Amino acid sequence: MTKAEQLSKNRIQDKKRFSKKELDRYKNFIFRKEEGMCQSGCNREGVEYHHVLRGAYKNDKSIVLTCRECHTIVHFSTDTHEREALNILFKSASIENWREYNA
Ligand SMILES: [Zn+2]
Ligand SMILES: [Zn+2]
Repeated sequence: MTKAEQLSKNRIQDKKRFSKKELDRYKNFIFRKEEGMCQSGCNREGVEYHHVLRGAYKNDKSIVLTCRECHTIVHFSTDTHEREALNILFKSASIENWREYNA
């Protein structure tokens, strides 16, 4: 990591919302770390980012890389058990992402 990247990371520690540039940098980090795969472990390609913390609690630290299918499930599945199981997976993945980003 370059010094500029380290400085930028330090600045975003306490923010809930990142600038476009900061968010892009964090997304790129996750994408490279996961080699472009969905973080649910479904073995599909990750094509979007999901915010685990949403609404009033929305926090850009809580993003995970997801495929379209898992993203639909975690938002809209009427099977609450399936939805909650995926939510728990994504929650721990999001914590891991942020921990590794700051390692
Ligand atoms: Zn989402
Ligand atoms: Zn998936």
